[in-house]
Amino acid sequence: MNSSGYEGRLYRPPSEAESFILQASIGCSWNKCTYCDMYRDKEYRERPISEILADIVEARRFYGDKVFKVFVADGDPLHMPMETWRPILEALRASFPNLRRVSTYAMATNVLAKSDAELRELSDLGLTLLYIGPESGSDAVLGRIAKGSDFEAHAEAARRAHAAGMKLSTIFLLGAGGTERSEEHARESARLATAMDPAFLSALTLTVVPGTPIAKLEERGRFTLPDTMGLLRELHTLIDLTRPTAAIFRSNHASNYLPLSGVLPRDRKTLLRYLDAALDGSLPLRQEWMRGL
Ligand code: SF4
Repeated sequence: MNSSGYEGRLYRPPSEAESFILQASIGCSWNKCTYCDMYRDKEYRERPISEILADIVEARRFYGDKVFKVFVADGDPLHMPMETWRPILEALRASFPNLRRVSTYAMATNVLAKSDAELRELSDLGLTLLYIGPESGSDAVLGRIAKGSDFEAHAEAARRAHAAGMKLSTIFLLGAGGTERSEEHARESARLATAMDPAFLSALTLTVVPGTPIAKLEERGRFTLPDTMGLLRELHTLIDLTRPTAAIFRSNHASNYLPLSGVLPRDRKTLLRYLDAALDGSLPLRQEWMRGL
C-alpha cells in the first residue's frame, strides 16, 4: 500500500478524475501488450472480497452522498468472476445513494468470457460503462502489439456489451503500427471504431517507454514511431473514416500533439479543418515539453 491507500501506481481514465476509485484487482491478468508498462511490476491478483467491501464502507463514511461515479481498478477487473462482481456492485449501490454509474477497464477477452446473462446482470447491477482499448483495428498491428484479440473479437465484444445495455469508451493509439503500417493502422482503426460504435472515442499517442518490448524493437530498428506529421495524418484518417452513431471524440490526452474534441460523425468536417491547418503548419501544435509525459 502507498500513502494514498492504493497498492502500487494507480491508473484511471481522465474522465474518471472525480470518481471514487475502487481497487478490486491488482495489476492486469494479461500484462503482455508490448507498449504497456503500467503493471509490469505487479503480479495479477484479486483482492479478497472482505477487503474490497471494507474499502466501500470506508468510502461511504468519508464521501457518502458525494459519490456519483465509481471506477473499478486496476488493469482488467472484468476478468474477476461474478462471485466477486455481484457483492461489489450490490455494496456500491447500497452505499452511495447518488451513484450514477460504475465503470471499469476491460479487454475484449474479459467481455467474451462472460455469458450474455452475466453481462446483463452486471449492467443491471450498475456496471454500465466499459473502457476498452483495442489501440488498433489492424489484425497485423494487434498481433504485433500482443493485444490478445483481433478485429472480430473486439467487434463481437462490443456487440455483446451493447446488447447487455452497457456503453463503451474505446481508445485507439496513434503510432501503434509504426511507420511501416501507419496508413493501414489508421484505416482499420476507423473501421473498428465504426464497428464497435462507442459512446466515447479517444485517440492517444503511443509513447515508447524504456524497458518495454516495443522499446527493444525500436532499439533494434524493427519499430519506428511515425513523426509528428505522420501521427497527425493517422488522426486525420481516423476522424475522416470513422462512422459511429454519435461518439464523443477526444484527442486531448497529454500524449497528443493536437488536442481536439467534438462529436463524431457530426463534427467531422470541423475537426478535419483543424487537422488540415495543423498539417499545413498554420495551427501551432503542443511542444514536446507541453505533452506532459
Ligand atoms: S490489457 Fe491494458 S493493462 Fe493489460 S497489458 Fe494490455 S494495455 Fe496493459
